[in-house]
Amino acid sequence: MKYDLVVVGGRVAGSIAAYHAAKNGLHVLMLEGNPEIGTPVQCAGGVSDSFFKSTGIKPLPEFTCTRINSATINGPYGASITTRNPIIKGYIIERKIFDKYLALRATEAGADVLAGSRVNDLIFHDGSVSGVKFRGPDGTHEVESSIVIAADGIQSGIGRMAGLDTRFRPGELCSCAQYEVAGFDVDDETMEFYFGSTFAPSGYLWVFPKGDGRANVGVGIRRTTCSDNSPLHYLNQFISRAGCSRLEFNAGAVPIAGPIRKTYTDSLLVVGDAAGQVDPLTGGGIHVAAKCAMIAADVATEAVESQRTDSGFLSKYESTWHERIGKNLERSLKFRKVLDGLSDDELDSLIRSFEGKALNSISKISLLKILRDYPGILKMLKCML
Ligand SMILES: Cc1cc2nc3c(=O)[nH]c(=O)nc-3n(C[C@H](O)[C@H](O)[C@H](O)COP(=O)(O)OP(=O)(O)OC[C@H]3O[C@@H](n4cnc5c(N)ncnc54)[C@H](O)[C@@H]3O)c2cc1C
Repeated sequence: MKYDLVVVGGRVAGSIAAYHAAKNGLHVLMLEGNPEIGTPVQCAGGVSDSFFKSTGIKPLPEFTCTRINSATINGPYGASITTRNPIIKGYIIERKIFDKYLALRATEAGADVLAGSRVNDLIFHDGSVSGVKFRGPDGTHEVESSIVIAADGIQSGIGRMAGLDTRFRPGELCSCAQYEVAGFDVDDETMEFYFGSTFAPSGYLWVFPKGDGRANVGVGIRRTTCSDNSPLHYLNQFISRAGCSRLEFNAGAVPIAGPIRKTYTDSLLVVGDAAGQVDPLTGGGIHVAAKCAMIAADVATEAVESQRTDSGFLSKYESTWHERIGKNLERSLKFRKVLDGLSDDELDSLIRSFEGKALNSISKISLLKILRDYPGILKMLKCML
C-alpha cells in the first residue's frame, strides 16, 4: 500500500496534520500506538479561544467541560490576583473525547486511521525516508509513503530514527503529575495557579475546573537532580488538605526549553511535543502543536504535488513556523527564565504589586517596569532581554 503521507501519533498534532493534509487532497494514513485514541490522558485540558479561532474547530459541548473567563494567580505567602484578560478566556476540555473527535474529523476528511498500531521502524530508499513498518493488532505491516510526519510526542523516537536530535535533557523538561478530583471547592469559570517553593518549585500548581466540583489538579516542576522531590509529592501535599475524591491519576512531561534544533529532514517533518513546540512559560502545547501541524500539512501537500520531498524543500516548514510563532516562543522562554530566578519573597511581592490593578490594562512595558523595581531582577532582565 502506498500513501502520500503517513502521520505517526494520533493526538492533537497528528490528527490536525492528518485532517488538513486529507482536506488538501493527500492520501493519508495516521497510526496511533495506543489501543484507544485519547487515552491515557496527559493533559489538564486548558485551551484558549484563539486555538478554536485559528483552527476553525467549534468548541462543542461534547468535549468542553467549562467556560473559562478568569484566572487567579496565588503567591507563596498569600498574595493573590485575579485577571479577566481576554487572552485567558477559553475552555477546559475533556481530552479523551476531544482527541477522538479530532481523529474522527480526520477520517471524515478522508484519512485512514489505525489505533493500536505502533511504528517500530522507518523504511529508507536512497537515504530518504520512504515509509514505515508498524505492528498492529493483526500483525506487522510495511507502508510506503512520500512523506512521514512524526507527531509521536516528547523524545520522538521517529525523529531520532530519521537522524534528528529530538532528545530533551532532564533540566529541559517539566515533570508533571495530575489528579482529576471530585468534591473540590472551585469556581467553575476560574483557572487557579499557585507559585512558590511550597507549592511547586521551578513550576506551578494548577486547578482547572471541570464543573460540578470536578477539577484537574496538577503540579509541573523542573527537576534538576534525582533527589529533588517529585511533582507527586507537592500534589499530594496540596490535595490532602482539600479532602476530595480522586477519579483519575496521570503523569507526563512537557518540553519547556524551546523547540528542537531541526524539525525536518528528507521526506520527514517533526510536529508538536515531538519538536518541542510548546510554550515554555505556561507549558501549554495544544495551540502551538495545532498551528505547526497545519503548516506541516500544507508544506507536505506542496511537496507531494511538486514531487519535491527533499530536505531543501521541506525546510519551508521550519522557516514558516519560525516566522509565525518563533518569536513568541523565544519571548516566553525568556520570561520563564526570569520567573525561575525569583525567590519566594520576590514572587509574592511581584504578585502583590498587581493586587487591585486591572490586569487587562497592564502592558508588557509596565510589567517590565514593575519587575525592574525588585532587587536582582533588573540584572537578570538586562542579561536576557
Ligand atoms: C500533565 C500535563 C498537563 C498539560 N496541560 C495542558 C493544558 O492544559 N493545555 C495545553 O495546551 N497543553 C497542556 N499540556 C501539553 C499538551 O498536552 C501537549 O503539548 C499536547 O498534547 C501535545 O500533543 P502532541 O500531539 O504533539 O503529542 P502527544 O499528545 O504526546 O501525542 C503523541 C502520540 O503519539 C503516539 N505515539 C508515540 N510513538 C508512537 C509510535 N512509534 N507509533 C505510533 N504512535 C506513537 C503516542 O501514543 C501519543 O498518542 C499538558 C501536558 C501535561 C503532561
